Amino acid sequence: MDFDLSPEQLDLVERGAAAGREWRGFAEKWDHENHAPLGAVTERMGELGFLGITMPVEYGGQGKSNLEYVLAVEAILRAATTWVAAEPLFRTSGAGPTICLMSNNAAAREKFLPEITSGRAGCTIGITEPDHGSDMSSLETSAVRGEGGSWIINGKKKFITGAMEDSYYATFVRFDGIAGAKGVGAIMTEKGMAGFSMNRGPDFVGSRGVPHGELEFNDCRVPAENLLFGPGEFAQLMSAFNMERLHNGASSLGSAWAAFDLALEYAQVRRQFDREIIEFQAIYHEFADMYVQLEAARGLMYKAATSSGGGKYPQALDVTVAKYFANQVMYDVSAKAVTIFGGEGTSMENPTQRIHRDSLVCRIAGGAPHVIRNTIASQLVPHIRLSQRRPAPAEPVSAVTGN
Ligand SMILES: Cc1cc2nc3c(=O)[nH]c(=O)nc-3n(C[C@H](O)[C@H](O)[C@H](O)COP(=O)(O)OP(=O)(O)OC[C@H]3O[C@@H](n4cnc5c(N)ncnc54)[C@H](O)[C@@H]3O)c2cc1C
Repeated sequence: MDFDLSPEQLDLVERGAAAGREWRGFAEKWDHENHAPLGAVTERMGELGFLGITMPVEYGGQGKSNLEYVLAVEAILRAATTWVAAEPLFRTSGAGPTICLMSNNAAAREKFLPEITSGRAGCTIGITEPDHGSDMSSLETSAVRGEGGSWIINGKKKFITGAMEDSYYATFVRFDGIAGAKGVGAIMTEKGMAGFSMNRGPDFVGSRGVPHGELEFNDCRVPAENLLFGPGEFAQLMSAFNMERLHNGASSLGSAWAAFDLALEYAQVRRQFDREIIEFQAIYHEFADMYVQLEAARGLMYKAATSSGGGKYPQALDVTVAKYFANQVMYDVSAKAVTIFGGEGTSMENPTQRIHRDSLVCRIAGGAPHVIRNTIASQLVPHIRLSQRRPAPAEPVSAVTGN
């Protein structure tokens, strides 16, 4: 691995930081009001050259690598301190767009990708359901054949980032009632389709500003060309989903740097006992520990980004390790930053507490930590992949026959 950045990549990082600074002054307001003008933010990020970063040029994207995606997200969030600033990258180049790109259905790619990469239509992913979160192989939202090769979708989704705002939803469905993971695929559903309704969902402790809402499908008829992944293609679908974890990890890394920067600045001006608090060795060493964590997370993130198959999506083991670690680093570093600010850190005006609240969400979205560890361990020892399901109860032994 060579992490020496090229002049173009260094320029991207600088441009990312400059773009992030444009949103820094809005971070508190968006969090407080739980509303951000995502359309306007996306338009501006388009002017600054941050849309469709990893999408191929033939679909209007920039054809850059996943390392460049991570560099941009990290730099933007480090400067912005609000996750909303990187959402334009996610909705034009993240998991939803990548699932569309990796589909074998050329009609879907041609229909959706130019709209997505231009920023005219944001794209997100709809997996989680009221009764099925971590257990994606049990999803119930159904797709059955309708007239003329169309699909009829019924079911509910929850916690969908970008609900109401995005135009396209890479919706995970179960085809024809086929049981288990082999029945799960994805169809692109479109805002405004008959039988497709949405709401903003609950108020969240972190990652505020853009809804993580609920989707409902009632006999929603979707044309055949919107099929992304059919039954039997769950493994390929989950490979494309790795972009979700790459974005989540890069966001965590950038946000953790932001908390570090804020605490470092404060520790050099806040005085107690007639000296700056950074001069207390206890505080001084906190920065050493945070820096080690941040650099380790950065290394894992860059490694995951460069592990991409054909430049399209990162390898499952690398990206899962990186997401898991970066989430923990964001959680730890932001908590330390709050503490270094003392009482100020716990005021709702202080950005470090906001970043810490965001860290709670980052750990859950894209896979909760326990499940992530299952994913990592199962890649290390694939021959003893442990079933998460409770074993069926043993048949009672007959007292007469003994069988
Ligand atoms: C703000 C936010 C944004 C989100 N955005 C999206 C989105 O855009 N699209 C989308 O589809 N989803 C989204 N999600 C959903 C997210 O992916 C799920 O919340 C997550 O996968 C966990 O599912 P769950 O909430 O149903 O928890 P559950 O699956 O019910 O898990 C509850 C607890 O049990 C643990 N657990 C579950 N199974 C196991 C196991 N086998 N072994 C050990 N422990 C286990 C979990 O780790 C967790 O601690 C978002 C969530 C949040 C909070």
